[in-house]
Amino acid sequence: DIFGAERKNSKGLNMNIISESEPFFAALEKFKDTQWNVGPLVNGELLSGETKEVVSPFDTTKLVGKVAFANNQAIEHALAGADNAFSSWCNTPVEIRANALQKLADLLEENREELIALCTREAGKSIQDGIDEVREAVDFCRYYAVQAKKMMAKPELLPGPTGELNELFLQGRGIFVCISPWNFPLAIFLGQVAAALAAGNTVVAKPAEQTSIVGFRAVQLAHEAGIPKEVLQFLPGTGATVGAAITSDERIGGVCFTGSTGTAKLINRTLANREGAIIPLIAETGGQNAMVVDSTSQPEQVVHDVVDSSFTSAGQRCSALRVLFLQEDIADRVLEVMKGAMDELTIGDPSSVKTDVGPVIDATAQANLNAHIDHIKQVGTLLKQLELPAGTKNGHFVAPTAVEIDSIKVLEKEHFGPILHVIRYKAADLHKVIDEINSTGFGLTLGIHSRNEGHALELASKVKVGNVYINRNQIGAVVGVQPFGGQGLSGTGPKAGGPHYLTRFITEKTRTNNI
Ligand code: NAP
Repeated sequence: DIFGAERKNSKGLNMNIISESEPFFAALEKFKDTQWNVGPLVNGELLSGETKEVVSPFDTTKLVGKVAFANNQAIEHALAGADNAFSSWCNTPVEIRANALQKLADLLEENREELIALCTREAGKSIQDGIDEVREAVDFCRYYAVQAKKMMAKPELLPGPTGELNELFLQGRGIFVCISPWNFPLAIFLGQVAAALAAGNTVVAKPAEQTSIVGFRAVQLAHEAGIPKEVLQFLPGTGATVGAAITSDERIGGVCFTGSTGTAKLINRTLANREGAIIPLIAETGGQNAMVVDSTSQPEQVVHDVVDSSFTSAGQRCSALRVLFLQEDIADRVLEVMKGAMDELTIGDPSSVKTDVGPVIDATAQANLNAHIDHIKQVGTLLKQLELPAGTKNGHFVAPTAVEIDSIKVLEKEHFGPILHVIRYKAADLHKVIDEINSTGFGLTLGIHSRNEGHALELASKVKVGNVYINRNQIGAVVGVQPFGGQGLSGTGPKAGGPHYLTRFITEKTRTNNI
């Protein structure tokens, strides 16, 4: 046990053990037709509002439920409630705040099947991704509970003249606005919320429009776990309406955002232009993630990790591999094996365990990705594009595609789906590869495959990214093990699931007492 008695990462579920998987699938089945009707939860009250139907990205003829969006009155009441509750929550002993988060982690595990069914039906996630999503959410709650106790339980005593007591206290900042994306509708949504609450902030949370139901259930469970209802407010709605209103409010004390770089910049401008204090923005954003493979690497292992990093989750992970740099001596061999491995991918219904690649989130994402595929096939050379099987026509599916291109410069932005770009390089040009990757300005993940340690470590130190993975896939960061977050256009830090994350949610106060 790498963490000792202090904390354990969630066990997850081993689907190869029949005694674990059978009850799991039986429990999952119960939620196959459930309809969820959700809306804003303001001071614990479920409010009504303009209502939208939620359909499954896998099959848009299948209804998942309905969501009522927050109106101006709901927004105002949520902010006022969170503002009123701040002083009491901030002064609640950190052990009590931490215990509520530990209880929330237990409740997430108890409600695992419903949450996984929702991840599958509302977000189009595969079963394995759903299992991992719940695990990560549980780990975030437990990790921040422990971190907060370590950092905040007692003030730090500082030296001073005799008779004077100098103490440094860490406290919450006020209302934290938490805005999350749809691609980790539970883990990122709750990770932000848990960190803000552990540190003594109250929270106004806005989920991504596409995944409001998962967020709603997470907030209900948090209230059930003992987080006071005024302390955690939930406002579903669009970014342009609810997101813009809560980030421009004078009363807020900080914003925690995960999503695209463009939206992060927009929020940064909103914060700069609003009345009130200068407050922190924690932004975890997009990437143009590369993997560099040299000729000392093992082609079969490379292909396993490339396919995993590019195409699982339909490429909808911020960490996913977008640009594969292959040293030319090994390129043909890797590409030949890769095309074969792509043929083995099962595309289809995310609720089937056999599925490797499910749908993308919505019609807009599908249209944008298909437009990029059409364009990049003209610019580069198509290596492989899978056929979409029958049974996917009612959903937002994009065919996994690999295209060879000359330079990363032809990619003007992040393409958030199952599309891999391949570039060949010469051994003598490694420095050019490093410059090319750094030229994008993004800096999220980097994969390296090499058995030349000097090579691998040189790349790891010179490419400006937040997370480097050597001789493995480059997705699936584990809380407390691979704290996650990028540099440059990919984010402000500190890293989620790491020992410094809470510092941005906290303000410091010294008390000098001349006793
Ligand atoms: P997005 O379009 O930027 O949206 C993220 C959130 O911001 C949504 O809740 C969105 O609301 C909200 N929003 C939009 N406009 C806003 C505004 N003016 N004010 C306040 N909030 C606003 O990103 P996405 O498409 O959901 O997510 C995919 C992106 O997230 C990718 O770029 C991916 O790389 C990135 N990501 C990064 C990480 C990381 O850790 N670095 C992790 C996961 C995802 P609505 O969409 O509901 O309107």
